[in-house]
Amino acid sequence: MIELIDTHCHIQSIGATGGEAVTTKQWGKLEDTNISRVVAEAKEAGVGKLISVGCDHSDSHLAIKLASEYPNVWASIGIHPHEAKDYVNNNEIKMSFASLVSRPKVVAIGECGLDYFYEHSNPDDQRQVLEFQLNLASKHNLPIIFHVREAFNDFWPILDNFNGIKGVLHSFTDSQANLKKAIDRGLFVGVNGIATFTKDSSQIDMYKSIPLNNLLLETDSPFLSPVPHRGQVNTPKNVRLVAEYLANLRGQSLEDIASQTTLNALSLFGL
Ligand SMILES: [Zn+2]
Repeated sequence: MIELIDTHCHIQSIGATGGEAVTTKQWGKLEDTNISRVVAEAKEAGVGKLISVGCDHSDSHLAIKLASEYPNVWASIGIHPHEAKDYVNNNEIKMSFASLVSRPKVVAIGECGLDYFYEHSNPDDQRQVLEFQLNLASKHNLPIIFHVREAFNDFWPILDNFNGIKGVLHSFTDSQANLKKAIDRGLFVGVNGIATFTKDSSQIDMYKSIPLNNLLLETDSPFLSPVPHRGQVNTPKNVRLVAEYLANLRGQSLEDIASQTTLNALSLFGL
């Protein structure tokens, strides 16, 4: 029996009115917006544990609520770099967000980081809100789920200002050089459906070279459906397709990929 963990999904906003707007809208395209069905289907596919990841205050709140209702779902609370502009000068909402950290089943901070590809918030605001969350993780000894896109040159010096931060670079698609920097710092690397449809040969080589001890699997659902489900709403059961793809690409057995990535997730998040 294969046992997998989806270390990064956003199922808390299925059928919700609040939550992160783009994500909630994407879930709206699902034929049947029933969270318990989505969780049950994942379990049937061998994806028995899920981490539901928040992108802002209300979205994180939903993740905590969902985790309280399902024994096999945990929550991560975060302010996505896209949302940084709404938090950077608002101490009240930052304090209210920080108070969520002690709620039951909160196992990580994130997703947080820097995104200079979209730049929905200005880089300065993004850096400040990232540092706020690094401090929070440090204080509570929690791992971080990082979202870093086209911003590694700024990211590494900020991270290196903090001691002993554990975490994962979620949806990692970057260079071998940045992979090496991640490994050197003991970070994990999260791989999702992008691996199954990218045509970029250097990226495919990078996926082959991630040490199994540093690899985590994720879906980022409802986004990034793997082959052969492109164009559909992604759900956590599809983490199995990512595992199968990587097993084939890396010449490893599905059992080996599953058991080590599951161990990695259990140790990082303390599930
Ligand atoms: Zn995400």
